[in-house]
Amino acid sequence: MSGNAGSNRRRRERRRVADAAEDQPADLIVISPLSDFTCVGCGDEPGGGLVMEAAGPLCLGCTDLDHLTYLLAGDAALTRRARKASGLSAVVVRFSRSRKRYERQGVLVEEEALAQAEQHCLADEEVRARRRERDRLRRAEQDVEFQAQLAAAVVRLFPGCPPSRAEAIARHTGARGSGRVGRSAAGRSLDDAAVTRAVVASVRHQETGYDRLLMSGIGRSEAREQVRDEIERTLDRWRR
Ligand SMILES: [Zn+2]
Repeated sequence: MSGNAGSNRRRRERRRVADAAEDQPADLIVISPLSDFTCVGCGDEPGGGLVMEAAGPLCLGCTDLDHLTYLLAGDAALTRRARKASGLSAVVVRFSRSRKRYERQGVLVEEEALAQAEQHCLADEEVRARRRERDRLRRAEQDVEFQAQLAAAVVRLFPGCPPSRAEAIARHTGARGSGRVGRSAAGRSLDDAAVTRAVVASVRHQETGYDRLLMSGIGRSEAREQVRDEIERTLDRWRR
């Protein structure tokens, strides 16, 4: 495909995506693609969702959304509560070839926000059953030994990092098949740079106003720039 046709296609795609999000223009939109894509940020084909930008598709890792949990549409109350409790959330859409438009599939929310929302919905037995299923899948995904090593590496590099935070960083980073830094070849060998990248990614979401900036509609690079010093301060504190 020529570059021109590609850029026209991308423009059409963005317009369709914007249409799908029309009722809530501030939503971050993640596309569940119909086929494999190459991320224009990292050059990988990581699978999962993508964010369509002017330059082309970006993976969830490159858009700082890869720590979020997918909640399939179907339970309106649970979805509403989870999004409300989640500092950062995105709407997942998928193109319907038959209807020629993007349709909502679900949302990406913080794991803790989902757990909190589920607490509110506990009266519903079906929700409990789904929770059990998700817990089972998550346990199956997690490589417990790798996570323990990663948590230890975080504490070794950042002695001031609270142990519970080190464990949370290792848990998020270590989920199998997620494409997060910790699962990359460098992350597996617990290379210092990869461990630091995992810590930075987590600090950006947890210890800074980054998610709030994104949700307010500020672009990712500007938001990253705004929280850069704050991240450095936290890392300095944790190095001691
Ligand atoms: Zn990428």
